Amino acid sequence: MRRLLLFDVDGTLVRGGPAKVAFHEALVATYSATGPIEVHEFSGKTDPQIARELLRLAGLDDASIDAGLPSLFERYVDGLRDRLPAAPVEVLPGVHELVESLAEAADVALGLVTGNVLEGARLKLAGPGLDGLFEIGGFGSDSEERNDLPGIALERARERWNVHFGPDEVFVIGDTPRDVECGRAHGLRTLAVATGSYGDRELRAAGADVVLADFSDARAARDLLLAG
Ligand SMILES: [Mg+2]
Repeated sequence: MRRLLLFDVDGTLVRGGPAKVAFHEALVATYSATGPIEVHEFSGKTDPQIARELLRLAGLDDASIDAGLPSLFERYVDGLRDRLPAAPVEVLPGVHELVESLAEAADVALGLVTGNVLEGARLKLAGPGLDGLFEIGGFGSDSEERNDLPGIALERARERWNVHFGPDEVFVIGDTPRDVECGRAHGLRTLAVATGSYGDRELRAAGADVVLADFSDARAARDLLLAG
């Protein structure tokens, strides 16, 4: 058995933390605008996608948005780093046990597919000690399009482990229909977990191969991810 498991971050491994506050501050500092950040849907989207959607709604054109993105994400990452000690993320039930048991399993490679920019993902996972377990990934800093991210992660896995993982050997794991869609776009297997803002029915309707309420039964989740 050989497996590549690509985990989303927010709503899947962790929740909470100061990301939205840090993002808000970075938008104001960079563009003097935030758009409708309090009501906008963030889940399953990449960080640059969220920035572009908000700033377009604030009336900015794409050239102005693009010109500010490097400063925006520099400020955002700095803000996240400053704020995380006082407002740490919460690790979701069963995640420590699940991920640590997978990391110890033979022939299992762990990575991330997340809309977070790379440094944002690393910072969120570093506090609870999860960052070192995911050696490769596809990130919002690689592409604004979530559907691009599994392909980027697969390429990095090929470089890292010198293994070409077949579609049946890869699970994309996340908490939103967008996670499921990006895995399906590459013909990969998908496991959805209803610990974000979507329920069992919406995740099944998106076409997830497996849907779990949460990872509290870490052993069962592990067996599902390693089956077949
Ligand atoms: Mg998520």
